[in-house]
Amino acid sequence: MTRAFQAKKLDEAIALALARVEPISETETLPTTDSCSRVLAEDILCPEDVPGFARSAMDGYAVRASETHGASRERPVLLKIIGSVEMGQDPRTLPAVHAGEACEIPTGGPLPDGADAVVMLEETERQNDQLVRLFAEVTPGTHVLSADSDFRRGELVFKAGHKLRAVDIGALLAMGILSVTVYRRVRVGLISTGSELVEAEQPIRPGQVRQINSHILRHLLESQGAQAISLGIVPDDREKLRATVQRAVRESDLVLLSGGSSVGARDWTLELLQELGEVLVHGLQIKPGKPTIFAVVDTKPVIGLPGNPVSCVLVFEKFVRPVLARRSGLRVLLPAHRLASAQLTQTVPSALGREDFVAIRLRLDESFGRLYAEPVLGHSNNISTLARADGILHVPSELEEIPEGTHVWVELL
Ligand code: AMP
Ligand code: MG
Repeated sequence: MTRAFQAKKLDEAIALALARVEPISETETLPTTDSCSRVLAEDILCPEDVPGFARSAMDGYAVRASETHGASRERPVLLKIIGSVEMGQDPRTLPAVHAGEACEIPTGGPLPDGADAVVMLEETERQNDQLVRLFAEVTPGTHVLSADSDFRRGELVFKAGHKLRAVDIGALLAMGILSVTVYRRVRVGLISTGSELVEAEQPIRPGQVRQINSHILRHLLESQGAQAISLGIVPDDREKLRATVQRAVRESDLVLLSGGSSVGARDWTLELLQELGEVLVHGLQIKPGKPTIFAVVDTKPVIGLPGNPVSCVLVFEKFVRPVLARRSGLRVLLPAHRLASAQLTQTVPSALGREDFVAIRLRLDESFGRLYAEPVLGHSNNISTLARADGILHVPSELEEIPEGTHVWVELL
C-alpha cells in the first residue's frame, strides 16, 4: 500500500478520471416545464416553423416593397389604407394588400397576403382616414420576421447531451414540444468521515466540529441537477468506513467522501479504496485541495475530497464538476462559472508548478464603476474564507505570482 502522494496536474487527473467515467444510461420522459437543468438524452428536431406566420417587427404599415420605390420626405408615396391588423388575428381573415394599398399593422401582428415589407410608423403620416403618405423606401423583408425566423421545421435545435437552461425551456415550448427525454438524475452518495464530526443539529462539546461539508456538497450537487444521498458521518474506523463505502457504491452512481483522504495514521480512505477498487489519482498539484483521491469501485467513480471545507469546495468545483457532468450525460463541457473582470488590489504569490485558487472579495468603486479584486486570506479549514468571498481567482501553475494592478478574471461563487 503506498501512503505518499504522487500528485498529478489537475488537467491530467481530470483526463484520467474522465476516461473511466461512463454516462448513465437510464432515461426518463418529463414535461418540458419540469426539465430545467436536466440533460437531453435525445436530439431535438424542430417539428414546425416558428413563429409559423410572417410578423411585423415594427408598428407601421404593411406594403408591397416595390410600391415604395423612391419614397422620401420630399417625394412621399401615397397609398390607400385597406384596414388594420389586430394582434392575434388569423392572417387568413385579413384582406390581401395589392398595388397602391397599405394595411396598418402593430409590432408582432401577422403580415397580410400580398405584403412583403413594413414601413415604420415614424416614416409615415396619415393624410386622412383613407390615405397614408410614406417617406421611406423599403425592400422586401424590411421589418418583417419570416414564418421560420425563430426556428425552421426540421432544424436540429439541441443535441443529445445538452443541459437544458431556462431559455431552452422557452425555446422548446415555443416549438410546441411539451415533453422531452432526459437522462435520469445522477445519484451521488455523500459520506463525511472524521471522529471529531457531529451533525449540526446535535449538541457539541469542545474538541468536536460541526459537519458542514455534506450540506455544502448537497446544495452544489442539486444546483447541477444531481440528487444527493446522505450516508451520514462515519468515524475514523476502517471497518465502519468500508461498510459505508460499499453501501454507497451499491446505492449511488457516484460517491463523494470528505475527510480522511490524506496520509495520516487515521486516514483510511486511500487504503480502503485501494482494497475495494482501483485508485487512479492520489494527490493534485493544486492549493488548496492536494489530498484528493479518484478511484473506481465496481465501475462507479469514488472521489475522496479533503476534509477542510474550503479545499472540499474547490476540489468539487475543479475536479468533481467535470466527472459529474460526464456521468450525467453532458457532452459539451463549458466553463461552469460566471466571470467578473476586476483589478487586483495586492500581489498574489503562488508556487511554480502548482495551481492556486484564491478566494476573492469584489469591491465596486462607485465613482468610476471599476471592480477591484481583494484576496481574502484565511486557512482552508475556515469556511469564513469563502463566506466572505465573492469568487475565486485561478493562478496557473506557470506563474510565481500575479502582480498588484493586474486585470484578472474572477469565477463567481
Ligand atoms: P481531514 O481531511 O480528515 O484531515 O480533515 C481536515 C479538517 O477538516 C479537520 O480539521 C476536520 O475536522 C475538518 N473536516 C473534515 N470533514 C469535515 C466536515 N464534514 N465538516 C466540517 N469540517 C470537516
Ligand atoms: Mg479526518
